[in-house]
Amino acid sequence: MFNTIIIGAGYAGLVLAERLASQQNQKVLVIEQRQHIGGNAYDRFDEYGVLIHEYGPHIFHTRSKEVWHYLSQFTEWYYYEHRVLTKIDGKEVPIPFNLNTINEVFPKEMAERIQQKLVSLLGYNVRVPILKLREQGDEDLKFLADYVYDKIFLNYTLKQWGIGPEELDPTVTGRVPLYISRDDRYFQDKYQGLPKFGYTEMFKKMLDHPNIHLMLNTKFQDVMTISESGHMLFGQTFEGHIIYTGSIDELFDYTYGELPYRSLRFEYDTFNVEYKQTVGQLNSPNGYDFTRITEFKHLTGQMHSKTTLAREYPEEYVRGENTPYYPIITEENQEKYKQYKKLADSLTNVHLVGRLAEYKYYDMDAVVAAALKLYNKLK
Ligand code: FAD
Repeated sequence: MFNTIIIGAGYAGLVLAERLASQQNQKVLVIEQRQHIGGNAYDRFDEYGVLIHEYGPHIFHTRSKEVWHYLSQFTEWYYYEHRVLTKIDGKEVPIPFNLNTINEVFPKEMAERIQQKLVSLLGYNVRVPILKLREQGDEDLKFLADYVYDKIFLNYTLKQWGIGPEELDPTVTGRVPLYISRDDRYFQDKYQGLPKFGYTEMFKKMLDHPNIHLMLNTKFQDVMTISESGHMLFGQTFEGHIIYTGSIDELFDYTYGELPYRSLRFEYDTFNVEYKQTVGQLNSPNGYDFTRITEFKHLTGQMHSKTTLAREYPEEYVRGENTPYYPIITEENQEKYKQYKKLADSLTNVHLVGRLAEYKYYDMDAVVAAALKLYNKLK
């Protein structure tokens, strides 16, 4: 008999399964609708033997010592630091837009003047969301903000989300910063890297415990129900805890309608050369339907005579047809989420955690931290 049933074998579900089984000696059942573990961080070798990320490029980075040390029990690391170039008027320049980028796109005198103003008014080694930069009273900085907004942000955002930046929550638009620094790494977190043998290998190690039973290719609805009193059942009965990491609207059969997501489509190309790009990610804010091209070998450190790249096309999410990737965080959608959250709070034995269950953009480290927090609460 199981003590806990976990729905979803992504980061959130796997961390809880591992902790409950190894630390509390609980018998845990993990139910996953896909034919593999790992959720959206799943990786695999393609037909040419190149390691790719099936659901889009995943770069691990965190400031949390606790999260880094926790995952380090299950993997060694390839110490990768992400660098991104973006195309502006045919030229490839580093982003986040930083002091080096300014040197590359503006004439020398103008670049120096803008750099000085940025540093004296806003400081050094600070990230400023471009929407905030626009609000400064200085003409040069306004010009710079408008330049970044028009050349990088606007079209990328329109492509990525299918709606204008002003309709999105600032937590999303704030993700596109201007960085007042010469450090052109995409992330500045203390801990950065990818699992040395891939995410899936790390996940396998997490599940490698006799107390954990895995049920793939199974939707929770096939084996579970919710009773009238708000108790979630496995078969006829179930006395233990349920941890739910799937979509919160799906849990309640879309009673209040669907929570909208943005989806993505990936097109892969493999070439008979070691590398195609100088960096792992090349963004195309303007001029193409795709937003970015990822060359996986830069990220994974894999040695191979061929290389595989993925072009990423944002598209509308249609339930049953493609994958829900990014929650579309608008006021209206947050209100709908709150209605579902109320229903979830009334369930007697169910705990919700993860990006789908909380309708939230979570980086991998944040979802690990959230799962560890829930574990500490449960134990
Ligand atoms: P998921 O990984 O989605 O896992 C949920 C699991 O539940 C899935 O396996 C799903 O199949 C299963 N499930 C759902 N419904 C049911 C059901 N009815 N029955 C049974 N099972 C069900 N984060 C970073 O830190 N760095 C990055 O570079 C990065 N890149 C990203 C790129 C893209 C394109 C996307 C979309 C996300 C990226 N992320 C990145 C975020 C990262 O993917 C998430 O933080 C992480 O996957 C969340 O884990 P989770 O367990 O909450 O959700």
